[in-house]
Amino acid sequence: GLGPKRVRVLYDQLGITTVEGLKEAAKEQKLRRLDGFGAKLENELLRETRVLSKKENRILLREAEEAAEPLLAYLKKFRGVELAEIAGSYRRGKETVGDLDLVASAQDGKSVIDHFVKYPDIAEILSQGETRSSVVLRSGLQVDLRVVRPRSYGAALFYFTGSRAHNLHLRNTAIDRGLKINEYGVYRGDEWIAGETEAEFYRVFDLPYILPELREERGEIEAALKGKLPEPVSLEQIRGDLHTHTLDSDGKNSLEEMAAAAKALRYEYLAITDHALLAGVIDGLDADGLARQMEAIDRINEKLEGIRLLKGIEVDILEDGSLALPDEVLDRLDICVAAVHSAYELPEKKQTERVIRALDNPNVHILAHPTSRRFGKRGPVAIDLEKVMLAALERGVYLEVNGTPDRLDLDDIHCKLAKEMGLKLVISTDAHSTGELDFIRYGVGQARRGWLEAGDVINTQRWNRLELRNKS
Ligand SMILES: [Zn+2]
Ligand SMILES: [Zn+2]
Repeated sequence: GLGPKRVRVLYDQLGITTVEGLKEAAKEQKLRRLDGFGAKLENELLRETRVLSKKENRILLREAEEAAEPLLAYLKKFRGVELAEIAGSYRRGKETVGDLDLVASAQDGKSVIDHFVKYPDIAEILSQGETRSSVVLRSGLQVDLRVVRPRSYGAALFYFTGSRAHNLHLRNTAIDRGLKINEYGVYRGDEWIAGETEAEFYRVFDLPYILPELREERGEIEAALKGKLPEPVSLEQIRGDLHTHTLDSDGKNSLEEMAAAAKALRYEYLAITDHALLAGVIDGLDADGLARQMEAIDRINEKLEGIRLLKGIEVDILEDGSLALPDEVLDRLDICVAAVHSAYELPEKKQTERVIRALDNPNVHILAHPTSRRFGKRGPVAIDLEKVMLAALERGVYLEVNGTPDRLDLDDIHCKLAKEMGLKLVISTDAHSTGELDFIRYGVGQARRGWLEAGDVINTQRWNRLELRNKS
């Protein structure tokens, strides 16, 4: 065991809060130098974390998609299948997925199961019955399939989508009304009364259809009863991306290529926010490089129709809360995205003060990836986000919902909190290539899980309505 003292050291010195973070640090031999650790313990921990993370075994939503979508297509092509969908946390759009829960409707369950277990990517069949089967794909992902009769499809989809807390709430509502629910339908005594579609299922309880993204038992059932469910922001409402990188720092495409790709997405604007040079940490821009990039952007903007490139920077927030570029440089930009990329391990009070001090700078428009978490790499920094959000609100700064699949930062809970506070957010990709502009899907998904509507998200605004502090 580690004991509370060593756990504290891990957290204070390396910012480690997850098994994955511990595993990474052990691999990089960062633990052996810590007080009370040493190489022997490091090796032991590495072994243990391998076992543990196998148990945790959650993969990124994006990785799950790569396995799930072809499998779903395979299943839907089978003639006996009427409807099929992936339920579970995948359907709710959670950032990581443990295993896949498939639900299908068919008259003959067994034929569907027989087809399912022939899927070429299966490494192991764990079970194979008349209406259910569990398999492990070659990637290690477990998939459970449940086949029900068409009249039970909505009930099964509801049941296997969860969350558990949301389902429990509805089960209790059912009991209060003398009803019973299970994966086959809603029953009064032995009489089946509903369950073919989810909408029908909810209607029994005088509820409108509740989107899977909202089924986390965070007030959605109460809101639904009052007719106050949000209308979550959608991909089509996004008009631009305000955090992207090019070859001028650590990106993989040129300004022109990024502009063309953004135009193909029918965006109205794209902010180029390369990293500023910082102590050789990455190959970023210095003041001269930035000046050259700004001239290049002017030239592109003159030529390019239909989209506007914004001159921006992703500037580091230094440990004392000052910024890595002087104000006279920042002052000339259209947009300044500030972010923490170092000293993740500061204690909460210091980290909070550091970030708020950066927001004090009137040149800062957006605080990027506010907690710095990266799935599989490090947990969120210790920071009082509510305080940061209040400070941002007072100063007219926006917080980012970063759509990079291993970040998705802010999380859904803080998106919802921001909305309740009246703080506007921006959904950005932090794309480092043209292909990564597609990460906007995950950012929007996260925002939807956080109840954000178009009006809560600044980059749903047209260019001429986009309000950036000090925008000329
Ligand atoms: Zn960053
Ligand atoms: Zn970035």
